[in-house]
Amino acid sequence: MASFDRMPSGAIQDCKRRVRAPSARTAIHRNITLKRLLLDFGHAIRCQRPLVRILGRPFVRSRRWVEIDITYRCNLRCLNCNRSCTQAPAAIDMPVAQVEAFLADSVSAGMQWRRIRLLGGEPTLHPDFKSIVGLLDRYRCDHDPGLRIVICTNGRGRRVREMLSALPPQIIIKNTHKTDRQRLFRPFNNAPIDGRRYRLADFGCGCRIIQDCGLGLTPQGYYPCAIAGGIDRIFGFGLGRRSLPSVEDDMIDLLERFCPLCGQFGFSWPTRQLRMSPVWERGYARYYRCQSRTGPSLFA
Ligand code: SF4
Ligand code: SF4
Repeated sequence: MASFDRMPSGAIQDCKRRVRAPSARTAIHRNITLKRLLLDFGHAIRCQRPLVRILGRPFVRSRRWVEIDITYRCNLRCLNCNRSCTQAPAAIDMPVAQVEAFLADSVSAGMQWRRIRLLGGEPTLHPDFKSIVGLLDRYRCDHDPGLRIVICTNGRGRRVREMLSALPPQIIIKNTHKTDRQRLFRPFNNAPIDGRRYRLADFGCGCRIIQDCGLGLTPQGYYPCAIAGGIDRIFGFGLGRRSLPSVEDDMIDLLERFCPLCGQFGFSWPTRQLRMSPVWERGYARYYRCQSRTGPSLFA
């Protein structure tokens, strides 16, 4: 199995197309910005059915970018975590074989991804993190030389920092430098379906994340965004596509199912407090009931 510290140095050297300056690796990445808030405000208006009927849906899922949630382990407990790593912690790791299958299907389908991000949870906590990065790097060298491989990390703790510092220079690091202090987050567990603001919304629009972040691959399968896979982990619909979606598949059926539950839809003020609407309270209650039936071996 390929691992970045076991790859032949020649292979790595040949593929160093995009070596980032050290400052790019240490810069703080912020998810909440004024620009994004303004875009979300516009989205809240634009996704209303009367406007969608006239102008069409504003977002199309990306065929160029992918996000892979390789683990739901995390060493932090951010309130409003949009993968439920705080609300429903779990030591669920994506099998390496699932990453291999994704890469093999990408080659068969002739996909040329422009960016693949590894996330979670905290991706560096995956027990086979190095192997997964090695697989992606080999795929880039052999099939997709323009691909950018990005690790999205909270940068917290010695183990995480050791993993990051061992990454080869062609791997891009997006570091939020989180700490135990709560940051501002969108209230992920405030489901639009529990309020009146979006009663006329067309949830099949999704949000800018399907365009900006791309296709989501999670342990539950493929989704129009990785956040939807994290929602499915809790609600247990089991709706993730089992194989790489075709380019014709807009995944509208999944957007209509998951966006009504997702606090990322439309506009909401960021908060440091946990906000949770009734559908999520019931969702987590059901999740914990299932967890106690499944036994503690599956979940940390
Ligand atoms: S660091 Fe990221 S994955 Fe971990 S709890 Fe915070 S938001 Fe969730
Ligand atoms: S599930 Fe959430 S993040 Fe994904 S498209 Fe819908 S609103 Fe956006």
